[in-house]
Amino acid sequence: MRVTRFAPSPTGPLHLGHAFSALTAHARAEGGTFLLRIEDIDRQRSKPEWERRIYDDLRWLGLEWPKPVMRQSERISDYRAVLERLWAEGLLYPCSCNRRDILEAASAPQEGGPRFGPDGMIYPGTCRGHDRSGPLPEDMPLRLDLRQAMRRIDGRLRWTETGTDPGQREIDPAALIESVGDPVLARRDMGTSYHLAVVIDDADQGVTEVVRGRDLLEATPLHVALQRLMDLPVPDYHHHRLIRDETGRRLAKRDDARAIGLYRAEGASPADIRKMIGL
Ligand code: GLU
Repeated sequence: MRVTRFAPSPTGPLHLGHAFSALTAHARAEGGTFLLRIEDIDRQRSKPEWERRIYDDLRWLGLEWPKPVMRQSERISDYRAVLERLWAEGLLYPCSCNRRDILEAASAPQEGGPRFGPDGMIYPGTCRGHDRSGPLPEDMPLRLDLRQAMRRIDGRLRWTETGTDPGQREIDPAALIESVGDPVLARRDMGTSYHLAVVIDDADQGVTEVVRGRDLLEATPLHVALQRLMDLPVPDYHHHRLIRDETGRRLAKRDDARAIGLYRAEGASPADIRKMIGL
C-alpha cells in the first residue's frame, strides 16, 4: 500500500501551488494512506494561526488524513538522537560560518569562485578541521562531513522518480560531494535542519512515495545519501510541476494574492481551485 504525504510549513497561507501538491499527494496514495505533516522547525516563522488555516483549507479542499498529525517541533529529541549517533561516529563538525564567510572562502583564488547547490553556496569546508571530540555541542550549527560519510556507502545512490520525468536515477557519491558540499544537519535554534528532519520523518512515517514540487528535485540526491547513511529505506520520489503566475514565476508563500483562503472568501469552490491548477 502506498503512503504519501503533504508536508507544509505553517509560515504563511497555503496558495494554489500547495493545493496542487496536496491534491497530487492525495491522488497518488490511490487507496493507500495520505499523511499530513507540519514542518514547523523554524520556530520564528511558524505560527499556530497558519497551522490552523492549513487544516481548514485542506479540509475545505475535501482532504482527510489520519490524526494525530506529526509536527516536527515535537520531534526535536528524535533528531537529537540521530545527531548524537552521527557525532559519535565523527561525521559531524561545528560550523559557525555565515554567508559572507562562505562567500569569502569560496572566492579565494584556489577555490575558483562560489558554486551553488541545493542550499545555496556550496560550503568550501573551512571548519572541517574543528574539534569533533567531547559531547555533541549544544546549539551550534553542525555540518555533515559528506566525504567521510560517503565512504561508508557501497556503490551508487539510486532511487525511482515517478513524477513529470519518470525513471530510475543514480548518482555517484563522489559527484554528490562535488555538487552539494557539506550540508548543515543542525541549525542554530532549531536542533535540526530541513534535510535531516525530512529524511527521518519520511522514514518514521513509512512514506513510500515522496510527492513534492520540482523545486526540491535538487535536494533529492542528498536525501537519498542521508537515507543510505542512516540505513533508512529509500522511498520513490514524485516531483510535480510547479504552479506559476501569469508571468511564469513560480508561486511562493509571499504570493498571498493566490492564497486558497482568498479564493474561498471570494466564493470559489474546491472544483474551481482544481480547474485553476489544471486538475
Ligand atoms: N516543508 C516543505 C515546504 O513547505 C516541503 C518539504 C518536502 O516536501 O520535502 O515547502
